[in-house]
Amino acid sequence: MSVSMPQTVFQQLIDGKLEDSPKSFDVIDPSTGEPFARAPNASREQLDRAVAAARRAQREWAARTPQARREALHAFAASLRAQANEIATVLTREQGKPLADAQREVLGAAALIEGASTIEIEPELLESSRGVQRQVRFRPVGVVGAIAPWNAPIILSSSKVVEALQAGNCMVLKPSPYTPLATLMLGEIAARTLPRGVLNVLSGSDDFGSWMTSHPGIDLVSFTGSCATGKRVAAAAAQGLKRIILELGGNDAAIVLADADVQAITPKLIAAAFENTGQICMAIKRLYVHESLYSELCDALVKHTAKVHVGSGFEPNVTMGPLQNRMQYDRVLELIEDARARGATFLTGGRALQRPGYFVAPTLVTNVAEGVRLVDEEQFGPVLPILPFRDEEDAIARANASRYGLSGSVWTRDLAHGQALAAKLEVGTAWVNKHLAPSPDAPFGGAKESGIGRIGAKFGARAYMEPQVIDAVAL
Ligand code: NAD
Repeated sequence: MSVSMPQTVFQQLIDGKLEDSPKSFDVIDPSTGEPFARAPNASREQLDRAVAAARRAQREWAARTPQARREALHAFAASLRAQANEIATVLTREQGKPLADAQREVLGAAALIEGASTIEIEPELLESSRGVQRQVRFRPVGVVGAIAPWNAPIILSSSKVVEALQAGNCMVLKPSPYTPLATLMLGEIAARTLPRGVLNVLSGSDDFGSWMTSHPGIDLVSFTGSCATGKRVAAAAAQGLKRIILELGGNDAAIVLADADVQAITPKLIAAAFENTGQICMAIKRLYVHESLYSELCDALVKHTAKVHVGSGFEPNVTMGPLQNRMQYDRVLELIEDARARGATFLTGGRALQRPGYFVAPTLVTNVAEGVRLVDEEQFGPVLPILPFRDEEDAIARANASRYGLSGSVWTRDLAHGQALAAKLEVGTAWVNKHLAPSPDAPFGGAKESGIGRIGAKFGARAYMEPQVIDAVAL
């Protein structure tokens, strides 16, 4: 389905000015597998200039009052809202998600910026007596290098922008080379709404990301992406003892207890597993179901999955788009074939769609267990393994037998029991009767190899700050 793009030229923002690069690269439409636009391929020289601009701007930006920074960020959010349809159109074209979801992502980003910029981190008074004044205050770290993935480029970038900038930092932001365009539009908005140098947006390759993590002018690297790259980022940042925030992958387990209400939970489970074509760090990636309702729930899940409408993000009534890129498409099909070879049963799906683009049918899999890659690895696609259990403690142990620890959930009519079991999950967020539901007043991040640090609420703001003790005594 061909949809006209709101713009065809995409530029980077460096030191308050929009500019091209000597080189550029293709951006692929995942619903066709064909290139449809080009993005600048930022050079090292451009990175140096962007970092220098951020360093120049940072003192003045940090010296502003929190209220002044908030007003600038609100102007940024207002422009984002005003341009939501255009940005969402570009986002759907490059990322693949249904247009309604892209619109929700952009408007959600504007709301996130407005909400998170109201958070203030006050100094804490440690002692104030007999001529002694001792307090801990929180200073911005300096220049943040922000590196984003391709699954939710706008919301993930926006959360970095608001938390870092409201705290008084300046930023160089790099989107994924798979989805650079909508993020470059954020740069265009910043050119109109933020002081020069405060936010710089450059689109580059993976190499560009590694130049950022080793750049001496960057003080903190805020990275969202895979565990494998996160480890490389941590190793590179360690050379300069840069601060790091790592938001990495997950292999979230949802555990359905014997007393759960099958009809009520089925649509919620499907949404939490297949939203964004399963390409969400905190999507349900393993479903553990008590044996007493295993077949009833499997039937209900199959019926509900039949309602998922797969297609290009611009098709009317579409609820699931393609996988975002060829690499991810090949990987998901490989995991499906590996499970098939290991004796898995496919209740539905289990195949690519016969059409151009990176489409995989929503897939429910049984007769798989731990030891099969689909269960042990992060599939990041619309393929859900469903595993029976008899004993709740065993289900918890199996959920925890993972190097990941992002989030998880327990589903039950007994709220108190659900909370007690949820507390046993070795994860950053454990939900009861919901999943994929981060809350703006709660920190979000991973235990184990799912990350380092937390974003969101006061924890997120603090992550971009350095504590400083001022300890004074009267002479
Ligand atoms: P990725 O690790 O391949 O790439 C992420 C970003 O890192 C891209 O911008 C890429 O260009 C850059 N990059 C690649 N190599 C680099 C290097 N050596 N140094 C610095 N930067 C480098 O991840 P992806 O495939 O884009 O994203 C999918 C992954 O992201 C999944 O594992 C998913 O779970 C995870 N994710 C986590 C969260 C979270 O909040 N925990 C949110 C979204 C996605």
